[in-house]
Amino acid sequence: MSLCSDRSDIIEEEKVLEDLTSNVKQIQDNVLEEILTLNANTEYLRRFLHGSSDKELFKKNVPMSTYEDVRPFIQRVANGEPFDVISGKPITRFLLSSGTSGGKRKMFPCNNKYLENLNSSTIIARSHIDGLEHGKGMEFNFCTPENTISSGLPASAATTSFFKSDYFKNRPSYWHWSYTSPDEVILCSDNKQSLYCHLLCGIVQRDEVVKVGAAFVSILVRAIIFLEKFWKEICTNIRSGSLSMWIADISCRDSVSKILGAANPELADLIENECNQKSWEGIIPRLWPKTKFIESIATGQMAQHIPTLEFYSNKLPLISSSYVSSETMFGINMNPLCKLEDISYTFMPNLSYFEFLLVDGGKKIEIVDLVDVKLGCYYEPLVTNHSGLHRYKMSDILKVTGFYNSAPQFRFVRRDNLALSVHLEITTDEELLNAVGRAKMILESSNLMLMDFTSYADISIVRGHYVLYWEPKAKYNNDVAEIDNKVLVDCCYVVEESLNNFYREFRGKDGSIGALEIRVVQQGTFDALMEFFITQGASSTQYKTPICIKSSEALAMLEKKVRARFFTDKSLLLE
Ligand code: AMP
Repeated sequence: MSLCSDRSDIIEEEKVLEDLTSNVKQIQDNVLEEILTLNANTEYLRRFLHGSSDKELFKKNVPMSTYEDVRPFIQRVANGEPFDVISGKPITRFLLSSGTSGGKRKMFPCNNKYLENLNSSTIIARSHIDGLEHGKGMEFNFCTPENTISSGLPASAATTSFFKSDYFKNRPSYWHWSYTSPDEVILCSDNKQSLYCHLLCGIVQRDEVVKVGAAFVSILVRAIIFLEKFWKEICTNIRSGSLSMWIADISCRDSVSKILGAANPELADLIENECNQKSWEGIIPRLWPKTKFIESIATGQMAQHIPTLEFYSNKLPLISSSYVSSETMFGINMNPLCKLEDISYTFMPNLSYFEFLLVDGGKKIEIVDLVDVKLGCYYEPLVTNHSGLHRYKMSDILKVTGFYNSAPQFRFVRRDNLALSVHLEITTDEELLNAVGRAKMILESSNLMLMDFTSYADISIVRGHYVLYWEPKAKYNNDVAEIDNKVLVDCCYVVEESLNNFYREFRGKDGSIGALEIRVVQQGTFDALMEFFITQGASSTQYKTPICIKSSEALAMLEKKVRARFFTDKSLLLE
């Protein structure tokens, strides 16, 4: 993203967006034609199209696919067979998504078209916020180490692939001065060193920072929590003008030392003074007083972190700018300063060929084109991309909220997967997030914040029950949170009361589900959980705390950190 571009860049980008959103049908048609011409002779498509690239035949013959359908083809290319098993265009790398299948991370083929699409994700905040021209963005971007798979191709998270690509390296010249961190910090594969350096560089250039960003809101919250642990050391570095020895990555060390510059005791005093305040409420604008907005994905699973971020940011405008996955980039938020509950993404027709499965009362009944979706209806997107996925079911559920020219806009509703079930009921991610969101208000009223949570369905006993692991934190001081028994017991009740009718029926009259339990864990537990998943191959940039945990090792780790357990005492009131 450019914060330094002039007005003519903005006008040019706006024109491109107008064209794209005004010619959706034609562009989608062209994209499908291009993909089919390219892929008609892949082994995957030949089974259905016998070499034809006819669009009507595609719609008639090619079935919807899930990861399990394409996995054998992807695996063969990963093992070194020619790319045309699945794609007409050379596969240059593989992307590891945050989704899993059968306990393993999903892996998608990728080529330059994907990276080009990410690069073209025009950022429109600039045209909505004045005064960004001379400022910088403090952005928490990271790379994780790449794996080389048997074919010799690299495999990594999508964000890592982008930052390591020429698209990032050769970005337009006006980008170079837009980040407070040098590229070496983003490219450093040790995320702890990288995060420390991002913060240090951001603090040293605090007067220039107009934007704070990260791919996901949860990453920003973690960055602030990290700062709570490391601000004293950062101040020591600034006071002496020398960087901590544990920043050992040579290129990171060299480039950050230059930014750190000479000893600056005044700045160290100033930062110390802010960080020493008992409460960290509004710490972002206190440390970076010229910040005009925060840019980070805040919808779906990320919504649960918004209250914590708003506490630290004093409710600075939060822009959730894009909807993107390892399978494809989908769209952007054309109204970046809208209310958080109104965030919608306008699909860009040039990115992939998009179809939609109408979801009605849980049933999926009809496939329509991007131009044919109806306002107010719910859909699951099917993706046909340039690297070998055809009518691929995304498992995301979206709602049509409007149109920008002829391009539909979608609100992200939920991932189409169940989070918890101990009997016949199905509790989705969204239901659990809403229920916890309501209970969080009770916590808030006793001056506690919920830093993070996860859950699991305990079915080890006959009457299974839901277990929530909660990490509360005191709002106004940094001491260990004091837990009030009554507050947590009330929270258990509010969560249960907010779950769906099926749950309450089984929990109440039927008695097939046991009382929901909240297990309060020690501070720092969710950082440790993230570290655990990163050691298992998760990407720190794309990491999202799982709403529901299935890994027995992760559960064992959480169990060791449990401080207290709570159950509702009001089960009889449930219907
Ligand atoms: P990954 O492939 O690891 O990047 O994960 C992609 C998934 O992240 C998508 O399928 C969505 O479920 C979720 N996701 C990505 N962007 C957004 C967004 N803007 N709002 C909500 N969820 C998102």
